[in-house]
Amino acid sequence: MTRLSHRIKTLTGGGSDGWDIYRKSCAMKDRGMPVIELTIGEHDRKTDPAILKAMHDSATGGHTGYATIPGTDGLRDAVAKRIVEMTGVTTERHNVVITAGGQAALLAAHMIACDPGDTALYIDPYYATYPGTIRATGAMAVAVTARAERGFQPSIADLEEACEARSLLINSPNNPTGAVYSHEKLQEIAEFTRQRDMWLISDEVYDTQVWEGEHLSPRALSGMESRTLVAGSLSKSHAMTGSRIGWLVGPEEAVRHAINLATHTNYGLPGFLQDSGEFALQQGPALEDVIAAPFRRRHKAVNAIFSREKLIVVPSAATMYIMVDIRSTGLTGIEFAEALLEERLVAVMPGESFGKAAAGHVRIALTVDDAALEMAAMVIAEFYWNRAGMARNVAVSG
Ligand code: PMP
Repeated sequence: MTRLSHRIKTLTGGGSDGWDIYRKSCAMKDRGMPVIELTIGEHDRKTDPAILKAMHDSATGGHTGYATIPGTDGLRDAVAKRIVEMTGVTTERHNVVITAGGQAALLAAHMIACDPGDTALYIDPYYATYPGTIRATGAMAVAVTARAERGFQPSIADLEEACEARSLLINSPNNPTGAVYSHEKLQEIAEFTRQRDMWLISDEVYDTQVWEGEHLSPRALSGMESRTLVAGSLSKSHAMTGSRIGWLVGPEEAVRHAINLATHTNYGLPGFLQDSGEFALQQGPALEDVIAAPFRRRHKAVNAIFSREKLIVVPSAATMYIMVDIRSTGLTGIEFAEALLEERLVAVMPGESFGKAAAGHVRIALTVDDAALEMAAMVIAEFYWNRAGMARNVAVSG
């Protein structure tokens, strides 16, 4: 084989891509082992049959050729309408480009913001693909730590210490921590980007999973519309992870360039998928509430179990995840997750999959039915105290 590019070889920084435990638990399940899978953010509920019917009707109706590259007018308008309703910011078709999931929107946003060699900031803990997505553009990915002691909220002091950069990527509600940035925090972050004339890239794929208060988008803050790029998708809000329907929202000129990028990458999303996405959005918040309801309920139930069992949980009122601090077991998140999987057949994500700041934590996805989840939460609590006890015994005898 001839030479591979440095960029493709270093996409994940040379280390793990963060999905090791997930792959291991899938392999165990394939061998017939009764693993309770709480790793990735995949709903236990499948895409609504009415959405699938819209997909089928569109495909059999002939929408199977090359589709409009920026997205169909209907879907772009439906996304714009949803954003106006959720944030109050004027948003029109020309502010929206349809992408292959929020993931492709994140890549497009960084392609818009950064030249090769520029620096792009992101907050650690982070969704596992972030640094690789930034590196794919040729930019340098630099993490700004949000500390566990501050509920994983980034501090302005830490941001101000970061090197000069073209963009800052934030994610509220946050995966993996469940943190939601307050209005004040978003104001501070917005001011930081204004002062340095940077792009703010806001990943809002969890905008329907806020269990207290309302979702806040920094694009709605004064003066931010011209420097904010929002990545969104139907993956979490409509249980459509496999349909890969997402969007990037931003200033018209930036979106025009993202459309150009779409022409040179995926060349548009299949028309029948776009039509199903439009249908999904036409159902309005009622359907989004139905999809979010199990996670709202399970978030409360698992928090109650962990509180009763005296586990240290990252305070959160959002998302389909709960993060537990397991540092007093003396294990790393990876060691804890591996032992939990091997010994108790419960699969959770090590905090280390999401960066250095979440080391010594595990993330639990609330993605199995309530009874199985509550049982798994009890198993995790029992395992935690077992290992914390072992750590204490070692400390005493040592
Ligand atoms: N951002 C975050 C924070 C995520 O958790 C995910 C998926 N788990 C994505 C973006 C990408 O989602 P999708 O491409 O399915 O929209």
